[in-house]
Amino acid sequence: MLPFNRPIIVFLFLIVLAIIGLRQCPFEKPEVVQKSQIIMDTVVQITAFGEEGSRTTAAVNAAFGEMKRIEALTSFYMEGSDLQRLAVAGSAEVSPEVAGIISLGLEVARASGGAFDMTLGNLKSLWGIETDQPRVPGVEEIREALKGTGPDALKVDGLRVEKKSAATTVDLGGIAKGFAIDRAVDILAGNGIKHAAVNAGGDIRLLGDRKGKPWRIAIQDPRHSSRFAAKLFLKDVAVVTSGDYERFFEKDGVRYHHLFDPRTGYPSQASRSVTVLAENATLADALATAAFVLGPEKGLDLLKKFPSAAGLIIGADGKNHTTPGFDKVVEWQ
Ligand code: ADP
Ligand code: MG
Repeated sequence: MLPFNRPIIVFLFLIVLAIIGLRQCPFEKPEVVQKSQIIMDTVVQITAFGEEGSRTTAAVNAAFGEMKRIEALTSFYMEGSDLQRLAVAGSAEVSPEVAGIISLGLEVARASGGAFDMTLGNLKSLWGIETDQPRVPGVEEIREALKGTGPDALKVDGLRVEKKSAATTVDLGGIAKGFAIDRAVDILAGNGIKHAAVNAGGDIRLLGDRKGKPWRIAIQDPRHSSRFAAKLFLKDVAVVTSGDYERFFEKDGVRYHHLFDPRTGYPSQASRSVTVLAENATLADALATAAFVLGPEKGLDLLKKFPSAAGLIIGADGKNHTTPGFDKVVEWQ
């Protein structure tokens, strides 16, 4: 006689199957982790696919930590930041991160004929667009705030950053968010993540695809917040938008926003929004700001100077202007 009867054998067999199933489950079904935090005054959302939930969560948390570290280095308002030290000194030794941001920014400054300008700190404070009390300054005040600005006002040599004059105030607001996004992606990739999206208020970098499918990214219509201008199908790329519709105030029918034309000291009226695709978000961020200021024609010329860049410029008249690389990934709405 057998030691077990048939129902007991079946029962034991099922238990063995269940144990095997439980052990294999986390390996077979990849986990998706999605978390949000406010960093750099923006809601940052990270979506990551990983083999194991707890490891993916740890990678996402580390990526947020790195973005906060970059915020502390690049913010003008954070006690002891490189930027605060640069504000009081004519020249200062900065972190490798800030030196790297400034040298890429200077490259975009040169390529854009000065439209991208990291020395507009005084002008930004004067207008106060992102504060509770924005105002249209007088012509004389603007002239004063433009002193010490321009593509030659800032130099970087290794880790040493030098300002042309005491009036020069460095502002990395047009590029630092892109860099923080790139660092977050580096941390995710370094932790073995192969599919992720880091989205900081619409400025995005994608790592890989969305588990075998392209990521779908919608671009907002700059004049209708509930409508999309276009939909993009992307993988492994940065996509960054600069627009006049998020941080602005209106006075006497004029829209005053946070993207300044360094030649005039007023918000640029050349575009409504610019979306740039590039190999990294630091470059895409700087190019989007610069192309916005330049407007459709010169903005597209600028994007064509960078082999990894492509983009859409929605002009002041609402018309779309694109590079050939952008046409390949867009679906118009
Ligand atoms: P957002 O902060 O909405 O993502 P941007 O990346 O376009 O938008 O950056 C806007 C910021 O860039 C401004 O708040 C200011 O700090 C800075 N900025 C404004 N005009 C210029 C310019 N011509 N060149 C470089 N930076 C600029
Ligand atoms: Mg920018």
